[in-house]
Amino acid sequence: MTPARPGPAEVYRSRVVQEERESGSLAPVASRSASSRGRLHAEEEHPFRTAFQRDRDRVVHSRAFRRLQYKTQVFVHHEGDHYRNRLTHTLEGAQITRTVARVLGLNEDLAEAIGLAHDLGHTPFGHAGERVLAEMLSSSGGFDHNRQCLRVVDLLEQRQVEYRGLNLSDETREGILKHGCHWTHPVRLPELLDQRSLEGQVADASDEIAYLNHDLDDGLRAGILHFGMLESLPLLRDLVGEVQENQPSASESVQRAWIVRAMIDHWVTDLIATSTRRIEADGLDSPEAVRRNARRVVGLSDEVDGARREIKAFLFDHFYNHPAVLDRTQRAEVVVEDLFRLFTDDPSRLPPEVRERFSEEGEERAIADYVAGMTDRFALAEHQKNLDSAAGIDP
Ligand code: MG
Repeated sequence: MTPARPGPAEVYRSRVVQEERESGSLAPVASRSASSRGRLHAEEEHPFRTAFQRDRDRVVHSRAFRRLQYKTQVFVHHEGDHYRNRLTHTLEGAQITRTVARVLGLNEDLAEAIGLAHDLGHTPFGHAGERVLAEMLSSSGGFDHNRQCLRVVDLLEQRQVEYRGLNLSDETREGILKHGCHWTHPVRLPELLDQRSLEGQVADASDEIAYLNHDLDDGLRAGILHFGMLESLPLLRDLVGEVQENQPSASESVQRAWIVRAMIDHWVTDLIATSTRRIEADGLDSPEAVRRNARRVVGLSDEVDGARREIKAFLFDHFYNHPAVLDRTQRAEVVVEDLFRLFTDDPSRLPPEVRERFSEEGEERAIADYVAGMTDRFALAEHQKNLDSAAGIDP
């Protein structure tokens, strides 16, 4: 007689088995899913997914996550098929996050959930849209993409009849709030101590490593930046020299990939070594000790951080503020401002579900939530439809 099939609770890697493995294999400073601080709304545990795995899955299945595909990173996405958008940026950042979390013995599922969620609050057209909404709402609470991210996961996604939001764990919600919380949030906030978890700190550092490198790559690909311009940056000058010496026959695109790969590897290696040293130096032995520590411990060494700052300043000067990029940015600002004013002046143009939120959230906040949620192409289409004017950005 064949034995009965095991029930979900008995399968090899059921949640309980995975939680036990976490407690045996992760570093003492790692967050453990079995000791999660809980969710806004109590839920039964899942038979074979841990709390943080469920968070990651909920983020990936959200509407806001799918919309990242049509939101700009630096370029308007129609510019070419190989440039990053918010979705590919998010995936590149999450991939670095997982590598670092795994090497440091942290909770990879939590780090990944935070990494995948971190840009859900971005407006259409990148920081251009954010600047406009911050200005429009300056006297009524302001606007910031981190705050908006928490609004998306706590209030704006609708997956259940009983409550709004994705009902993520407090650990993932804490990780989303990069700079604390200085505004009114309609539901209970996660507990915020001096620092965030190491998983949150890793997601943050990895996000920056991802975007500086892929923006450099995109800037070079677009021909706005050239190898010759990198001479002023010692780290990049050395890498360009190295690749041209070792791979002289390689095409420019292969050389570019080589440089970006070498730079990510250099930074990630330094991030892991420096963070490990600081965790030991500060005597951190639990997630609570991390969150009560005087300093954040995940970061680059002073030397590598100096190079990072130089490269960031270089990208601001020569890429983010390049006339071709600024021109599109300014056109995008006009689109977002026009839409915000249009809906404020004539709310009848809004979908009914947005108007229904007026009494609860206030008119301006509900409109800002709606405009912030738009993809670039939806914003352009709404602009064209309602104002009958071309924004000068190719749809
Ligand atoms: Mg990001």
